[in-house]
Amino acid sequence: MSDLDHNSANCAANPAANRVAHHLDEVRQRIAKAAQAAGRDPQAVMLLAVSKTFPADAVRAAHAAGQRAFGENYVQESLDKIQTLADLRASLEWHFIGPLQSNKTRPVAEHFDWVHSVDRLKIAQRLSEQRPDNLPPLNVCLQVNVSGEASKSGVGIAEAADIARQIAVLPKLTLRGLMSIPEPAGDLDAQRAPHRELRELFERLRGDGLALDTLSMGMSADLEAAVLEGATIVRVGTAIFGARDYSH
Ligand SMILES: *Cc1c(COP(=O)(O)O)cnc(C)c1O
Repeated sequence: MSDLDHNSANCAANPAANRVAHHLDEVRQRIAKAAQAAGRDPQAVMLLAVSKTFPADAVRAAHAAGQRAFGENYVQESLDKIQTLADLRASLEWHFIGPLQSNKTRPVAEHFDWVHSVDRLKIAQRLSEQRPDNLPPLNVCLQVNVSGEASKSGVGIAEAADIARQIAVLPKLTLRGLMSIPEPAGDLDAQRAPHRELRELFERLRGDGLALDTLSMGMSADLEAAVLEGATIVRVGTAIFGARDYSH
C-alpha cells in the first residue's frame, strides 16, 4: 500500500477523528476572521478546546490535528483523562475551567497548568499552598460575574480589584487575567456588551499596576464577539467536539 492509500484508509477508518480535525479548522478560521476584522493578530488569540464529557480519544484526535490546550470542568473526569493521555503530557496544556469546591483543589493544583475559574480568595490560597514545589506556578484567572452571567459564580466587578491584588501575591500562582461566562445572547452587539465590560475591568486593573495578559472569554456561540472585544483565550467545546451528552 502506498502512503497515500494508507492515509486514506486511516481516514475512512476514523471518521470521528476526521470530524474533529475539520471542526478545529473551521474554528481556527472563525478566530482568524474575527481577529482580522478587529485589526488584531490571530496568533494573539489562543484556542482552548473544551473536552468535558468527551473521551480521551477525542482529545487524542484534536492533538493529532495540532491542538495543544484543553479545558475540563469536572475533577474526576479530568483526572482519568489526564492519566489516560499521560503519553502526550509534555505536549498538552490542561486548563481547569469548571466550578471548583475547596475540598477538590489539591488534584487540580497537582495536575493542571491553568485554572480559569478562581472565584474566591480561599480557592486561590489553597491552590497556591497545594501546588507542588517541583512544578512552575499555576496560571490562574479570576472569574468575574459580569452583568447577566449565566453561571452566577464569579466575583462582582466592584470587588474584583481587591481580590485580584490578594491573589497576585500568592507564591505558587501567577495571576494571568480575568474570565467570564456571560448569559447567551442573540445578536453580535448583545454578545459584545458583557465582553466589553470584562475588557474594561481588565484595562483598569492593568492601569492599577497588575501584570495581566489574559482575557478568557467567548465560547462556541459568541467567540467572534469575544475576539472583537479583545479575548486572548476563547474556550470552545461544541463547535469542535459536537453536542454534549450528559446522560451518563
Ligand atoms: C462548557 C464550557 C465552555 C464551552 O462551551 P461551548 O458552548 O460548548 O463552546 C466554555 N467555557 C466554560 C467555562 C464551559 O464550562
